[in-house]
Amino acid sequence: MNERYSRQILFNEIGKAGQERLLASRVLIVGCGALGASHAEMLARAGVGHLRIVDRDFVEFTNLQRQTLFKEADAAERLPKAIAAKKRIGEINSEVEAEAIIADVNNSNVESLIDGCDLVLDGTDNFQVRYLLNDACVKNGKTWIYGAAVSSYGTTMTIIPGQKPCLRCIFEDMPDAGSSPTCDTAGVIMPIIATVSATQVAEAIKILVGDTASLHGSLMQFDVWANDRQRIKLGEPNADCKTCGQHIFEFLDAEAQESSAVLCGRNAVQIAPPRQTQLDLKGLADKLRNISDVKQNEYLVRFTSGENELTVFSDGRAIIRGTDDVTIARSLYARFIGV
Ligand SMILES: [Zn+2]
Repeated sequence: MNERYSRQILFNEIGKAGQERLLASRVLIVGCGALGASHAEMLARAGVGHLRIVDRDFVEFTNLQRQTLFKEADAAERLPKAIAAKKRIGEINSEVEAEAIIADVNNSNVESLIDGCDLVLDGTDNFQVRYLLNDACVKNGKTWIYGAAVSSYGTTMTIIPGQKPCLRCIFEDMPDAGSSPTCDTAGVIMPIIATVSATQVAEAIKILVGDTASLHGSLMQFDVWANDRQRIKLGEPNADCKTCGQHIFEFLDAEAQESSAVLCGRNAVQIAPPRQTQLDLKGLADKLRNISDVKQNEYLVRFTSGENELTVFSDGRAIIRGTDDVTIARSLYARFIGV
């Protein structure tokens, strides 16, 4: 084993055997924003052999204040976050195999995304995906580590299906849309990202090296500005819990998932095509050049129409900025991309 990991191997709780386990591990990171980018960097440096990074968005200048993997050039190029993360990880630790997946996590793909991974890290920014992840992970007996941060506070909890309470044991119902602050409405500072992501990654490493006795076993809450830390000890899973008690997977088994989503607090709407598709981005860019200034790279096409900016990915999804009205967004999608 090369000297790269020598300081980590000196740490008794990991040691040589633990390092070998890390190198042979596969981790899924769902969402590569501030938390996800931080997970990816720490796990890559620690030598976790395979990272599967899934994210639906692209890098923007507003991300650079806290999303440590990304650079100005990534924002200028509007690289998809998964791609920018994979590139940077390759520079940090070329021994790590990073797999970049540009996609929206939904009930049609979540189980295939977690398949083959030892562990799932939550780097998302919304509860819809977290409840879905909870369903998928409980159903498949996969450990996942919930994490959230906004403003100066954050929370995390490690969910081991069958052994520890799941997300729904603690928060039975998903909060109503618009009821919780988001990073785009309440802001967020880097130190809380570092605190929550470091706690998540410490738990991940404990699990991967097999030291589950050292897990914190609680709902941890932090506020780095108010100097507040709380640790609420978790008991047994709730036998009445719909997800882990009754095995009713409402989010996973939902008939048809809404193909549009208002991206909370961002004045943007995402429209996804009803069927899986593969867009010809160059063809689309050529078509649009007569009507707008078009930017294109191998992953996306971006153009404007009046007040709205449309970013279209090769899987047919579009993020439409400048509106939070789904009807307007759908009509723009139909006009320029078609269904
Ligand atoms: Zn539960």
